[in-house]
Amino acid sequence: MTQATKPLKAGTATFTSLSCKECGAEYEAKAIHVCEYCFGPLEVSYDYDAIRRHVTRESIQSGPNSIWRYKSFLPVATDTPIDVGTGMTPLVRSNRLARRLGLKKLYIKNDAVNMPTLSFKDRVVSVALTRAQELGFTTVSCASTGNLANSTAAIAAYAGLDCCVFIPADLEAGKILGTLIYSPTLMAVQGNYDQVNRLCSEVANTYGWGFVNINLRPYYSEGSKTLGYEVAEQLGWELPDHIVAPLASGSLFTKIYKGFQEFIKVGLVADKHVRFSGAQADGCSPIAEAFREERDFIKPVKPNTIAKSIAIGNPADGVYAVDIARKTNGNIESVSDREIIEGMQLLAETEGIFTETAGGTTVAVLKKLVEAGKIDPEESTVIYITGNGLKTQEAVQGYVGEPLTIEAKLDSFERALERSRTLERLDWQQVLV
Ligand SMILES: *Cc1c(COP(=O)(O)O)cnc(C)c1O
Ligand SMILES: [Zn+2]
Repeated sequence: MTQATKPLKAGTATFTSLSCKECGAEYEAKAIHVCEYCFGPLEVSYDYDAIRRHVTRESIQSGPNSIWRYKSFLPVATDTPIDVGTGMTPLVRSNRLARRLGLKKLYIKNDAVNMPTLSFKDRVVSVALTRAQELGFTTVSCASTGNLANSTAAIAAYAGLDCCVFIPADLEAGKILGTLIYSPTLMAVQGNYDQVNRLCSEVANTYGWGFVNINLRPYYSEGSKTLGYEVAEQLGWELPDHIVAPLASGSLFTKIYKGFQEFIKVGLVADKHVRFSGAQADGCSPIAEAFREERDFIKPVKPNTIAKSIAIGNPADGVYAVDIARKTNGNIESVSDREIIEGMQLLAETEGIFTETAGGTTVAVLKKLVEAGKIDPEESTVIYITGNGLKTQEAVQGYVGEPLTIEAKLDSFERALERSRTLERLDWQQVLV
């Protein structure tokens, strides 16, 4: 382990520039996201020697109880980032789900309780809006599948930034209301996410707004690395053997990988070969299809699934996600909407965690991989639960039964209880025959 000489001077940036993931061309760290030469995506570069000299396990542990304890690995210079308590969500050791699936060391990273809007998107938005302020933006925006709109509107409200967000018009009621409550301008676009995204690219070019996942995308996406750092720290500064995470654009998946690699590079954890497996819905699985067909390119699809938060038909980071799954000996699988609902139910009834459709997708893919023998029971496996089920209630409506309505009398209760026990017995008899 390297010895830190002294902490970083206040206001010091450890990031140096943006560089093209395809051709390596370097750019100043401004609000740009594509390479002028080859149209490749831009990514933030850091001075890892400086980080290695100044950052230790202890200096991280003495930092805030939020993603900002990892500020040296994030693309902001300020010492007063927007800190709404995002991150440091529980890593739960699974007992009952693990036993149900026959796994020995299963962990659940529970971003269903991330602050402030109950999805992992609070991580990327906290970073993007802090950087937006540094770059002088006063209006922020996004193209969202739902959670990003919630998060951008909430954190912009906290930071006092003007906010205009774009969503597909057919989103779940909870996601729409969970945006409107923060009083942004909300544009419900008649079209799917990919059409929303195209519209937003035009707006970003002409209005001078900070779009967290368009012109600020290089900064935004770095926020997902904290899902890698936290798991490493919460496992006692060790990496797991295998992770399973949902894929929409593929950004989250690739950044967990980058986070692990960076911790290895600066000596915070021992080197380890971590397997990366990804989860998609059958109704929108362009990345899983590319993986299955061993392609190096993504064929865009038209999404049709209840897992709306991960329904991106033309995923920007799809090829990088396929590459990581392949080189780490992982897998990318997809599951049906029915399996997604069962996944949500399974996680709830075994672990007491109510996740949204994206989490149901991840649990269902975990189950599928275990059944196919693609996860070893002895491997320490972390599944990433990225959103909260209260936001997608429509998905399970009609699958969870009804309450027993009774009169406020003891005999009414007793009759209802007897009836429900009989029904349960009948249910079991049906299972047995
Ligand atoms: C956005 C989102 C994802 C995936 O995001 P990408 O980084 O685009 O792959 C996963 N889960 C939930 C709940 C999301 O909202
Ligand atoms: Zn380039």
